[in-house]
Amino acid sequence: MQATRVGDLTVHPLFDGTAIMNQGDWTGSDWTDHQHLVDPDGHVRLPVGGFLVHLGDHLVLLDAGVGEVHTEMYEGGEMLRSLAALGHQPGDIDTIVVSHLHSDHMGWLENDGQIVFVNATVHVAAADWQHFVHDLGDGRRRANRLLAIQSQVQLIDGDDVTILPGLTTRATPGHTPGHTSMVLSSGHERLIVLGDAMHCPAQLTETEWEFLYDVDPALAGTTRRRLLQEAEAPGTALLPCHFPGMQAARLVPAEGTKRWVLG
Ligand SMILES: [Zn+2]
Repeated sequence: MQATRVGDLTVHPLFDGTAIMNQGDWTGSDWTDHQHLVDPDGHVRLPVGGFLVHLGDHLVLLDAGVGEVHTEMYEGGEMLRSLAALGHQPGDIDTIVVSHLHSDHMGWLENDGQIVFVNATVHVAAADWQHFVHDLGDGRRRANRLLAIQSQVQLIDGDDVTILPGLTTRATPGHTPGHTSMVLSSGHERLIVLGDAMHCPAQLTETEWEFLYDVDPALAGTTRRRLLQEAEAPGTALLPCHFPGMQAARLVPAEGTKRWVLG
């Protein structure tokens, strides 16, 4: 998988595994024009993982994969090997931001009750902590996994919070109540790391499709369309977590109009 450049920064995909989705998971979808995204067995397979970036002296992880999971929906377990392939151990990471607390974005934060990234502060939106830990939004087991890492968690309260120079947060609610994107800036370029504000490239143009696992689908749609508009600004690219090859998407001029390209 190829890294994404933003100004002087290099954002490395950390592949963890695969999510196996159904076409019907996108409600209102018609895949006729998007058959290249559908496997011969009718499933839509999405990569799962996170992204690694050096910011000054900091080593930063954006989203934390699904972990050692083998279910009908997820096949995971590669992230630490992906990290090692880049020459790093879990203890090297000092800063983590997770877009939200679904299992495929917090999976490696906790493994068998143990903290994996022992030297990291984990930034997570207060609204997601409330939803998943206190309100048991995905059940008691998820809440317990999150409580196991509570000592390293720092809650993000509000919008446009600076995590480190060059890394700010953006409230992008809908997929979950506290869903948060991360904005990396370098020079005149910006990369908006989207988490699950968008799940597959068809949604770049099919702006009315909804996603079955959005907690608030209408709000998720509004957020998605706002992000697509924002990506029209020069020097701006979007990096969703689950696009093919974990690639970024950007709008480029094409024959008097603009079109989306990946990579
Ligand atoms: Zn996800």
